[in-house]
Amino acid sequence: MLLRVAVANEELALYLSSPGFNPNKRQDESMAQTVVPGLERRLKAHLLGEVEFDAFTRGRYATDASHYQIMPIGVVAPRSVKEAEHALGIAREEGVSVLARGAGTSQAGQAVNSSLVIDCSKYLDHLLELDVPARRCVVEPGIVLDELNRRLKSHGLWFPVDISTASRATIGGMVGNNSCGARSLRYGNTRENLLSIDAVLADGTAAHFGPIARDLSDLALSPLLPVAYDLLQLAAREADEIETRFPKLQRRVGGYNLDSLLPGRNELNLAHILVGSEGTLAFSTRIELKLSPLLGARAVGACHFGSFFQAMEAAQHIVKLAPIAVELIDRTMLGLARDIAMFRPTIEAVVRGDPEAILFVEFAEEDQYHNLRRLMELKDVIAGLGLAWDKPGAKWGGVIEIFDPKLQAAISETRTAGLNIMMSMKEQGKPISFVEDCAVPLEHLAEYTAKLTDIFAKHGTRGTWYAHASVGCLHVRPVLNLRLERDVEAMRAIAEEAFDLVLAYKGSHSGEHGDGIVRSEFHEKMFGARLVAAFAEVKDRFDPMGFYNPGKIVRAPKFDDRTLFRYAPDYRAEEIRTHLDWSAYPGAGGGFQGAIEMCNNNGACRVLAGGVMCPSYRVTRDERDVTRGRANTLRLAITGQLGGDAVASDEMAETLKLCVSCKACRRECPTGVDMARMKIEAQAARLAKRGLSLRDRLIGYLPRYAPLAAKWPKLANLRNDTPRLRQWSERYAGLSARRDLPRWRADAWREPAGDSGAPSRAVVFFADTFNRYFEPENIEAALAVLAAGGYEVQLPKPADGERPLCCGRTFLAVGLIEEARREAQRCVTALTPFLGRGIPFIGLEPSCMLGFRDEIPALVKGEDGRRLAAHALLFEEFLAREAKAGVLKLPLKPVAKRALLHGHCHQKSFAAMGAVESVLKLVPDLAVATVDSSCCGMAGGFGYGADTIDVSLKMAELSLLPAVRQAEADTLICADGVSCRHQIKDGSGREALHVARVLAMGLEGR
Ligand SMILES: Cc1cc2nc3c(=O)[nH]c(=O)nc-3n(C[C@H](O)[C@H](O)[C@H](O)COP(=O)(O)OP(=O)(O)OC[C@H]3O[C@@H](n4cnc5c(N)ncnc54)[C@H](O)[C@@H]3O)c2cc1C
Ligand code: SF4
Ligand code: SF4
Repeated sequence: MLLRVAVANEELALYLSSPGFNPNKRQDESMAQTVVPGLERRLKAHLLGEVEFDAFTRGRYATDASHYQIMPIGVVAPRSVKEAEHALGIAREEGVSVLARGAGTSQAGQAVNSSLVIDCSKYLDHLLELDVPARRCVVEPGIVLDELNRRLKSHGLWFPVDISTASRATIGGMVGNNSCGARSLRYGNTRENLLSIDAVLADGTAAHFGPIARDLSDLALSPLLPVAYDLLQLAAREADEIETRFPKLQRRVGGYNLDSLLPGRNELNLAHILVGSEGTLAFSTRIELKLSPLLGARAVGACHFGSFFQAMEAAQHIVKLAPIAVELIDRTMLGLARDIAMFRPTIEAVVRGDPEAILFVEFAEEDQYHNLRRLMELKDVIAGLGLAWDKPGAKWGGVIEIFDPKLQAAISETRTAGLNIMMSMKEQGKPISFVEDCAVPLEHLAEYTAKLTDIFAKHGTRGTWYAHASVGCLHVRPVLNLRLERDVEAMRAIAEEAFDLVLAYKGSHSGEHGDGIVRSEFHEKMFGARLVAAFAEVKDRFDPMGFYNPGKIVRAPKFDDRTLFRYAPDYRAEEIRTHLDWSAYPGAGGGFQGAIEMCNNNGACRVLAGGVMCPSYRVTRDERDVTRGRANTLRLAITGQLGGDAVASDEMAETLKLCVSCKACRRECPTGVDMARMKIEAQAARLAKRGLSLRDRLIGYLPRYAPLAAKWPKLANLRNDTPRLRQWSERYAGLSARRDLPRWRADAWREPAGDSGAPSRAVVFFADTFNRYFEPENIEAALAVLAAGGYEVQLPKPADGERPLCCGRTFLAVGLIEEARREAQRCVTALTPFLGRGIPFIGLEPSCMLGFRDEIPALVKGEDGRRLAAHALLFEEFLAREAKAGVLKLPLKPVAKRALLHGHCHQKSFAAMGAVESVLKLVPDLAVATVDSSCCGMAGGFGYGADTIDVSLKMAELSLLPAVRQAEADTLICADGVSCRHQIKDGSGREALHVARVLAMGLEGR
């Protein structure tokens, strides 16, 4: 029995008598209520932070990156630690358990529960203290690792637990899971880099967990004295068992860290018992971290192997050279990466011959000279193993040296992307994470991986291996379809057999991603019944009523309890009417369901810097406004979990409202979730039920009324010029009075009679609605450039002889899919004669031209749509292609010294920025800098909405507008998107130019 001192008994008695606690309630039935009326009311009355109890919000917090789904009772995002403490108090009084949550990227189900979720990631993200000389800092739990490291960089420091999810994982979550990075060989896990934690105990006591003397003399005034005393007693009692049953491996994150309490292990630090406790013991409020100096120059050796087994065998010898990381890429990953244009150059640069596996061995000695020496030693080791390249007829072998930091970075990116490609399988069977976290001593690694491969084969599946050979923790996910009972049975059989294997090698079943629901059940097998009972004692000592994240680490449910699965036995989607082509995916709605289910919750869309995804989340930091939140909401809606007609509901409209359809997720989401396209379907569903609003009508039908408006521009512009009409348009059409609408022009562009240029070099030019009516000078400029280049410009005419051609973008933006299809079909009919002759099809507006590549084939099925997509090129893509082929001769003179370029989201999504930059650089003496910007925030109608203008401006303020304001007055500001130019003008007063205008300015003789 644990010894309880009097003071603790008093506190416990007080705690148990608090109003909401039912002393008869056991932990396993704990606090799994679904309706607690007083809770929501009290939280809303007492907190400034956000309190949400609606099904849509709860649904967005019901999943993490595991295969489980558990609806929480409600969600609170406290604005301060004080508020969090207050929320904890109210939950305690109402008898409701609490789940602390960071980014929710856990893979084992520890970040889901039927509790009140406290989301630390939204507001509790401050760097509270930084002591550079002492190399330590104090943070709130919600700060994201990359954000912290960005702030430490200028001080030459970093928090070196470099996990793959660094772009979104929070320090609170890392501490909760005892996360481990690729360089854990040098730096250890989170536990080794943590100094102290301030936390709130289950009874509401705030306590400081840190280094303590073994006689507890420094805890005399601390509320932790009795707990510490009991824990030390417990550890002393179980010392032999801990010594025998705890795997002697760095990669052991399972169970509670009882080993940290044993004498002689390391300095006694009470915080270490909270590390890896998965939010089950206390709520962390302040975390003190040990920082390290930034890594200097590094050298990487790519060791080639003729078999996977050889690579695994070699790992134990390689680590003796003290590398900081040894990362594996196997043949399947190499093949996948080779197939992708952006990774092919990396693979070609570092892979020689035809190896089965490569180990990337990274050295970070004090200078490159010493790194070089290590590489020489590495070569000797590989040669000594008989694996050198210089054998007669060798197809693999040896070590490739890599010193270029860019190539080194590209290698790690490729490794991560390889995993993502594996995860992007479109079928219903997916790589499932449950045995992927095992670690075994290095001397057994080869044999272990061979035997596990046999287990997979026995159960009719296979896995691809990746990750950390240096610490014996290789990730592998067998492909299973968890909707099928037989695959769930296979999952259990594989788990049982795999964990037996790990036990036999004295390995660890939980080597990186934690216990959650996936692995807690197996603690008894791995640690033995006695230690599992000791874990339960720890939990009870801290939290006898199961207030914090019950059912994790101890008293866990069966890991294959299908009622807890995201795809539970009764999970199914109603047949949904869809309009776009989703046939690449399985499931209802012609595959719409499968496309939505591609989101595996890895959280990459919660990134706050770099890339483009997801601009709305970067502004609001709300799970509702991120690709993951939207995909989860759609998934729950189409499977009837949010009530009838949820797809067409107001809540769904709110969920999708801030999606600017930038398409960044299409490119940057590891599994290719294309929310912009999904939003079109959701809007169409809403339209069918609720009809079209006046604003959507004005936006959608713009191409139809444009010819008329251009005839009477003064009348059409009255709204901009009359304050009263501005107010009226805000009130009745939801168009912000603060924005000018695009100005109608009397000189709208009209096709000239006849075609121009040399007949041998024909191009067909698409004059889009926006440039035609609002900025005709862009079209004139493009035609001048093409003529100067000697191209014959053909102008397609609508077969019906009616209004000009339009891609249908505005109709898609408001869900008028059939109208968009009609426009697309008109384009196809008009363009087919040109395309049949292989004539390049070019245009200026990225959203139109790239829409031809993306949405049009989804609207106009068959060969016609595909051919249009295959021929559609941006003006710059065409010119860059011609320049590369050496056939572009443009007589250009200097126009300015500098240009600042902002890329349209769709240009980024379709990797067109390289072409735009290279074409701008054709202008002599022009230095081109590209703004590291996400979406400009205007995004078609989005920036005009009275309800969205503020978010729109905030998006622009993230990086675009500050960069434009900083640019010298004589710098050319370039932006190809009509919306981007509008936003730049509104936000900075600077005029931005389409690249065609810059080229036209440079034409000799103009
Ligand atoms: C694609 C992918 C790659 C990954 N790669 C790695 C890797 O390289 N290394 C690695 O170690 N992990 C990895 N993970 C797992 C996961 O990303 C990490 O464990 C991460 O640290 C979790 O952080 P989070 O903010 O998402 O925490 P969450 O998932 O939100 O929470 C994690 C745990 O911490 C608890 N917690 C959160 N905040 C608090 C608080 N304030 N007080 C008390 N408890 C709290 C939660 O209750 C939960 O039990 C990966 C996951 C994915 C999906
Ligand atoms: S939308 Fe993509 S990036 Fe975001 S969580 Fe889902 S799979 Fe990951
Ligand atoms: S389209 Fe853009 S705004 Fe919408 S979910 Fe994707 S990344 Fe986010």
